[in-house]
Amino acid sequence: MPPKRSASVDEQAEQLRLELGITTIPVPVERIARALGAQLRYSPLENEISGMIFIRDGAPIIGVNSLHHVHRQRFTIAHEIGHLRLHRDQLAASVHVDKSFPVLRRDEQSATGTDQIEVAANRFAAALLVPQAIIDAEFKNKPSDIDDESPIEALSKKLRVSKQTLEYRIRNLEKSA
Ligand SMILES: [Zn+2]
Repeated sequence: MPPKRSASVDEQAEQLRLELGITTIPVPVERIARALGAQLRYSPLENEISGMIFIRDGAPIIGVNSLHHVHRQRFTIAHEIGHLRLHRDQLAASVHVDKSFPVLRRDEQSATGTDQIEVAANRFAAALLVPQAIIDAEFKNKPSDIDDESPIEALSKKLRVSKQTLEYRIRNLEKSA
């Protein structure tokens, strides 16, 4: 038997939704976090801090900046779920704090070290929040024009994600197609 190719980060996010039987949008990120045994804590934090994750007595705790827009909070939770699924070993030692996800805007090719972990968590988050099937249904067989803002705007509202997250996900899907 040929060795099984390990699933990409995007695929792992899609698989998690499947595992939990989640087929509706907006994707219920809080429910997913709880299904993985994580506790959610909302509190007002400094503006530059999006959230954090740490493990206490074997239980993951996800902190979310309650002052941020709900779309950003949802992305933060999905990003921390990404760390939980992809980097659980690294979480054991310390509190992982996330600041404003700068890597979303940076050229991913140049990402190294810590940044790679953040890029992976961002990709996971976008794939968790934006199912490929929704993008396919929305844009297949239609003259796709990412510069036309209106379908992006409407879909981002339906998914309860920022336009930035939706565009990032569409770019990732185009690259891997
Ligand atoms: Zn992170």
